Amino acid sequence: MTNHTNADTLRTPIVAVLGHVDHGKTSLLDKIRGSAVSEGEAGAITQHIGATDIPLDTISGMAGELIDPTDFDLPGLLFIDTPGHHSFSTLRARGGALADIAVLVVDVNDGFQPQTEEAVDILRRTGTPFVVAANKADTTPGWNPQDGQPIQRSLEAQSERAESMLNENLYEIIGQLSDAGFSADLYWRVQDFQKNIGVVPLSALTGEGVPDLLTVLMGLSQRFMKEEMQIDVQGPGEGTVLEVKDERGFGATIDTVVYDGVVRNGDQVVVGGQEEPIVTEIRALLQPRPLEEIRTEKQFEKVAEVGAAAGVKIAAPDLDRAMAGAPVRIVRDRPVEDVVEEVKAELAEIEVETADNGVVVKADTLGSLEAMANALREAEVPILRAEVGDIAPRDIAVAETANQDEHKAILGFNVDLLTNAETELESADVKLFTDDVIYQLIEEYETFVEEKQRAQQ
Ligand code: GDP
Repeated sequence: MTNHTNADTLRTPIVAVLGHVDHGKTSLLDKIRGSAVSEGEAGAITQHIGATDIPLDTISGMAGELIDPTDFDLPGLLFIDTPGHHSFSTLRARGGALADIAVLVVDVNDGFQPQTEEAVDILRRTGTPFVVAANKADTTPGWNPQDGQPIQRSLEAQSERAESMLNENLYEIIGQLSDAGFSADLYWRVQDFQKNIGVVPLSALTGEGVPDLLTVLMGLSQRFMKEEMQIDVQGPGEGTVLEVKDERGFGATIDTVVYDGVVRNGDQVVVGGQEEPIVTEIRALLQPRPLEEIRTEKQFEKVAEVGAAAGVKIAAPDLDRAMAGAPVRIVRDRPVEDVVEEVKAELAEIEVETADNGVVVKADTLGSLEAMANALREAEVPILRAEVGDIAPRDIAVAETANQDEHKAILGFNVDLLTNAETELESADVKLFTDDVIYQLIEEYETFVEEKQRAQQ
């Protein structure tokens, strides 16, 4: 599938959705996809691996009066399907975030929660422009739902009391953003979305305000892409591994977001691997069959090529040691050694500082490993070894060699204990901590250290 072959064309912006658990990330993505599907034939959404591409004409249909499609030269928006800041921090591209823009979902009643804070930290660190979706507006007492309407239309149908209750919550969120160092306002009052964060009240359930969100995303990307994105849509493909998955008939495959250039079947490719970059040749490029259920990934269609931005599954030999979050680079018109060096250099940026004594850290992706390492450095916890992947017997053996009791520990972020490591752990003098919230994981570990120290006194 070729998306955009004209070098002057702006490529589709990549959008990530993040926020605290249960604040409505999945519902919002589902709503956007669902409305896009029912928007229908005009620009039936194309299927991707790990992402959904919504073309401009579909977006403009969904946004109704709010968008004039002739104002934009963007092809549409590519939403990363896996919501959450884990996936966001995973998605690195050339030292930054893979996503060009982000939606921070905040439950309008709950306001900022721990994962909202984490997400905001990541957004700040990566300098990613974002917009706040103040979700669940429909749960405001006395709300009169206006399905799918722009928020101003919906507000006209609300009682004064409902509107003022919603406003109170919205200003709470604006205050919390300000505490986090961002100047923010209700989106219709924001002049410059790169200087001020727009807060869009909406409901992922009723779709009220979703047209507004899409409008802000288009406006934000249009400016951002024009000013900052130098994309060579025809060059050798560059992407990021979302997930490494075994696929029947193909062996280990990588779900990849291609953010630049073109990837072709048969291309030589370099992928960041657990010890060394993997150099291999693409056997198949797979996308979901059209008309399949959106979340179904079973029935694939082989395609000859994909152009940025796109999600695609790459099948190739030797991908079992590939790492989620690692770079994917197509080798074309230059020596493979140069590409290998480039991948090594990119991985070196993420390399974690280790000490002779310290804890073992495991994380699901390179990005989250980096986030863990940063947080542990701040907490002054030394790291003996840090790796991407589930907890294996080898990790337990390594943790056991620590010469201080407080370092006989494994901190696993968003990973599982492999079944063949369970008995090993039982017989070992190693404490395992797992969590999917970084600060909680570190707090649990710190409590353990305090107990150890108290016991020694
Ligand atoms: P996630 O963990 O952030 O992906 O949150 P989900 O999308 O799974 O939503 C969590 C819960 O909130 C689910 O029960 C949703 O049905 C509900 N929910 C999400 N968005 C809305 C909304 O706009 N209005 C209402 N009333 N409920 C919502």
